Amino acid sequence: MSVRTRFAPSPTGTLHLGSIRTALFCWLYARRHDGQFILRIEDTDRERSTKENVDAILEGLDWLGLDPDEGPIYQSDRFDRYREVIDQWLAQGKAYHCYCSKEELADLREKQKAGGGHMRYDGRCRNRSDAREGVAPVVRFKNPQDGEVVVNDQVRGRVVFENAQLDDLIIARSDGTPTYNFCVVVDDIDMKITHVIRGDDHLNNTPRQINMFAAMNAESPSFAHLPMILGSDGAKLSKRHGAVDIRDYQAQGYLPEAMLNYLVRLGWSHGDQEIFSIKEMTRLFDIADVNQSASAFNPEKLLWINQQHIIAAPAKRLGAELIPYLQQAGLDPAAGPDAALVAEGFRERAGTLQQMAVSARYCYEDFAEIDADSVKKHLRPVILEPLRAARQDLADLENWSRNEISRIVEETAASFEINMGKLGQPIRVAVTGGSVSPPIDVTLELVGQKRTIERLDHALRFIEKRAAREP
Ligand code: GLU
Ligand code: ZN
Repeated sequence: MSVRTRFAPSPTGTLHLGSIRTALFCWLYARRHDGQFILRIEDTDRERSTKENVDAILEGLDWLGLDPDEGPIYQSDRFDRYREVIDQWLAQGKAYHCYCSKEELADLREKQKAGGGHMRYDGRCRNRSDAREGVAPVVRFKNPQDGEVVVNDQVRGRVVFENAQLDDLIIARSDGTPTYNFCVVVDDIDMKITHVIRGDDHLNNTPRQINMFAAMNAESPSFAHLPMILGSDGAKLSKRHGAVDIRDYQAQGYLPEAMLNYLVRLGWSHGDQEIFSIKEMTRLFDIADVNQSASAFNPEKLLWINQQHIIAAPAKRLGAELIPYLQQAGLDPAAGPDAALVAEGFRERAGTLQQMAVSARYCYEDFAEIDADSVKKHLRPVILEPLRAARQDLADLENWSRNEISRIVEETAASFEINMGKLGQPIRVAVTGGSVSPPIDVTLELVGQKRTIERLDHALRFIEKRAAREP
């Protein structure tokens, strides 16, 4: 039987890191086993599900490359099918109408509480034969009353639930709409799902679902419940710990493969390897290697992993991806070097594409001011002569290439008997406005000859004035 997994988000919110990790594991497992990955939108909650959230989910998955083989399938398109099963179950005595009023249930709860028992519906309508005038009933599933349900979870191992602890679950509300646990079972059967991989907040639903699989005479799929992702302080991951919506990471210039690489390591490992290409993940991933304990979200590590993927990405692609971030930084990509060259030059230093765009600003436009500390330290009268000489040779250069640039800087430094850095740093400060940039030859090549000479002239005039003041 071929492997079929599903990712089943509820569009009551957008895609956050936890749900993406679930989607990723489902996707990887299907890919690894040459199976199918199905996307199912669980939008039975008509009040809280929105079109915007659906779009955000689809866009997020698309950006990450977690493309479904089937779907999206919307539960809201399947109400007739759910109704059909409910009617069947009612006819077969597997489900029944419950006419209990709010007051009656509250009263039952009070009594159970007083008696020290735990609170559960006692099944009092199981044998009720008469409808109650004017009351729209809910439909409840007849859960077995004794025995146990064993979940052989692929992550958690064997987990046993007593049927006596489970009450008769509502499968249709009084307005007729079916409920989550029930729809999931019908869908997982109809969609021939073989492996249910989801967050362990659903573990308690699993015995109820297993009982309903049995009621449908269907075999239960295999289950794997993934441990939670926590914030660095051990609390449930939330906005407090930084962005949780995947679109925020996209906007900050994280690469999709870096997000997946970071998330795959939350709960899964392969030796002590940290960096995985998507190909490698698909080849190596196994649900059996997912560990049981919750993992903590670490934004510094995410940044580091992103940088590793920025370093590894082809320059051409990186350049194409950089363009919107340049624009976002208020820069005109046409007013400077090819973005692919910029990406190539800056990739060693940028944690994100957004950082890269911001630090490449001087390649696209002039700066108003040079960083004061750098001026003080590097644009000093002692450097006036070497800087003038370098400026002249650079201005005369016919072939503006990093090799030629580096030759000039080297030769100038040698002729003044100073080391390369003593000359390179003042040039850097003059041309970039600060003291950090790619290697000097790469930097000047990117900035271009015209801007380089203009900026050197500007710095030379400044040093001349300073020399006149402090000879
Ligand atoms: N719709 C559920 C959720 O978003 C997932 C249900 C499932 O995977 O069974 O939490
Ligand atoms: Zn009842």
